[in-house]
Formats: sequence, structure tokens, C-alpha cells
Amino acid sequence: MKFIALSGSVLGNRQQPGVGPKTSAAVLSFSTLRGKALPVDSHHHRVAARLGLIPENLAVGPSHRVLEAQLPPGWEAQQVYDNHQVLMRLGKDTCTPRAPRCATCALLDLCNHAQARLAPATVAAG
Ligand code: SF4
Repeated sequence: MKFIALSGSVLGNRQQPGVGPKTSAAVLSFSTLRGKALPVDSHHHRVAARLGLIPENLAVGPSHRVLEAQLPPGWEAQQVYDNHQVLMRLGKDTCTPRAPRCATCALLDLCNHAQARLAPATVAAG
């Protein structure tokens, strides 16, 4: 794994030919390299979109750079790793694809998606 260049920045020079951003970031973040990289899996991506951190129609690949750019520049690799783990865990356990449990979600007050989803339906007066 020494072939992966580590620049010390979140974006870094980690992209390798034929390897996507999620895999590259996962290798850096999850291995003993413990590099500063943000993997975005489908759970992380769904939560980020629902929270309005990324546009709903932004694909997983390009969402890496958008989400990485939002991280505090002074964060260490462990904090970046924790950020991914928290959002991924939230997506698996609470913010599920078909039936998010918004009523019990700690982020309910910050989530426009949930506010719209839970708002009382407006019925056109006839
Ligand atoms: S409030 Fe609902 S939609 Fe928003 S992050 Fe939580 S579970 Fe997901």
C-alpha cells in the first residue's frame, strides 16, 4: 500500500488510475495507513443529500470532493474517519432508504428533508 501518495490534505493526491474515490478513500482511511480521507458510501451519501449537504442529484463520486471541502481544515484523520462513521451509521440505522425514522433522529431539527416529509399535507380547498 506504500504506492498511494499521501499529501496530508483531505483531498490529497490519492486517486489512482482505475480506482474510484470511494475505494481510494476507504483504503486510506480504514487501513493501517490511517490517512486523512473521506469515503462516501450509499448510506453516507443518502444522509448528506437529505440534510442538504449536497444536492439531491449529485452522484456519489463527485460528492466526495463537495463533502470533503465542507470539513474543517484542521481536522485530523481520526475526525474525518469519525465523520464518515457517524453519517454511515445514521444512514444504516435511522435514515434508511425507504422509511427513515425521522421522529427519533437527533438531526430532525436540522433536516429540511424531514421537515418537508413530516409537514402536514396541505389539501387544496375545493
Ligand atoms: S431527520 Fe429523517 S431524513 Fe433527516 S437525517 Fe434524520 S432520519 Fe434522515
